[in-house]
Amino acid sequence: MKRLLALAALLLCQPLGIARDIATPVKHVVALDIGHTPAHPGAISASGIPEYEFNKAVVEKINSALSATSNVEPYIVTSSDTLTLRGRTRLAAAHRAELFIAIHHDSVQDKYLHSWEVDGQPQQYADEFSGYGVFFSRKNTESEASLEFARLLGDQMAARGFHFSRHHAEPIRGENREIVDDEAGVYRFDNLIVLRTAQMPAVLLECGVIVNRVEEKLLLTSERQQKIADAVAAAVKQFFSTPGRLIHSPAAATTPVASVIGPKLTPMPSVTTTRPRSLLQRVFSKRQTGISATPSPVPPRATKSASPSDDEAEEP
Ligand SMILES: [Zn+2]
Repeated sequence: MKRLLALAALLLCQPLGIARDIATPVKHVVALDIGHTPAHPGAISASGIPEYEFNKAVVEKINSALSATSNVEPYIVTSSDTLTLRGRTRLAAAHRAELFIAIHHDSVQDKYLHSWEVDGQPQQYADEFSGYGVFFSRKNTESEASLEFARLLGDQMAARGFHFSRHHAEPIRGENREIVDDEAGVYRFDNLIVLRTAQMPAVLLECGVIVNRVEEKLLLTSERQQKIADAVAAAVKQFFSTPGRLIHSPAAATTPVASVIGPKLTPMPSVTTTRPRSLLQRVFSKRQTGISATPSPVPPRATKSASPSDDEAEEP
């Protein structure tokens, strides 16, 4: 009798279990970080538009593109409190994000900027620079997976006709970033705070150079923003289709969302670099020879900063 009851219980429970599995497929949470804030909007474009506005527009497009993907749940990193850079990655972990993507738009060093006027207002531009760049950090706890996703994203950008901007590899103070994949357009920047403190694979995408007067106009179009969003969505799909890809954020299960802004994070252990030095010197000298190094007579603006900039990074 006991056996019969057990069998009946098993038969009754089995279909319910299957139904539950079908009803709730596993969704990978992807954190989308809008670079900067309205109060501190990052770089200023050639026509005077804050970088934050460009970042927000692209994140909204990525959010829609990922929402249409059956196994991905996008989460836009946001809070009613003032978000610190560490607070952003804590929020992502608290929302069980398995991937962190920071969206930015690029600028250049002050010495390359020229002055002009837009609607009677003084602005600055540098038309010699254009293109995208993807950054990852060796200090991220999932640095290999970060690099893997960075390459997927860079490949998707390149496949859509975008070109890699190598200007962050220039061997000068404030740049000097190692190029780890010249074809995909991937830089290593270990101390970028969001990449270093994220407890899941993380990349930062510079979508394009907004101080370039031609590229800025393109980046303002819905078509260009959608193309970038499609590249991100395709890379995300590839990333999670890797067999065995299931990353659990260690903080996700234990960190309440409400408590993620306050306490300090434990410093991340440093990840040893095994990859040989990059093509930095060779590539930069080959590709950047056409760029004028003549210093601009224009004094730097207080609101201006190359991106990703030193205020987003931290020395160990
Ligand atoms: Zn930025």
